[in-house]
Amino acid sequence: MAGQSGSHAVTVERQRLRFAAGHFATFADELEPIHGHNYDVFVEVVGPLTDESWVIDFSLLKRLTREVCESLDHKFLLQMESRALTISDDDTHYVIQYRDDHPYRLPKHDVAALPIDNSTAERLSQYIAGRLTESLEVSGPPGLARLRVGVEEMPGQAAWFETDL
Ligand SMILES: [Zn+2]
Repeated sequence: MAGQSGSHAVTVERQRLRFAAGHFATFADELEPIHGHNYDVFVEVVGPLTDESWVIDFSLLKRLTREVCESLDHKFLLQMESRALTISDDDTHYVIQYRDDHPYRLPKHDVAALPIDNSTAERLSQYIAGRLTESLEVSGPPGLARLRVGVEEMPGQAAWFETDL
């Protein structure tokens, strides 16, 4: 096996790598009504094998992914960089305005304020990939090559983001 060309990847998915969250996304001319999903998360890491023929310890990769999932679980996912919403806040609440609609007023402790422009599965997968890139840099093995993150917002409907590590 040694010396054979090719690359190795490991994946972790579903089980406890999921979160239940509320959101509304905006589209061209529309703000979705508030609703929720049971999001399932898929993570693939590509990298060289260690001397003992690992890419990365599965339990470490699951723990790092679970930490991100737990920070989103039972929250409202708010796209803080939205171009369609006007978001203000006080000590305790976010106030979210879409056009002339009545504003939403959400307690901050129920909100995951995310640096994304829309709470689509595409952006959520990118956000999770960013968090994992940071944590893998700190606690992952050296030399990892690529990371792919999938977010499935309902069975059979997922978005993926892929990045170099
Ligand atoms: Zn949705």
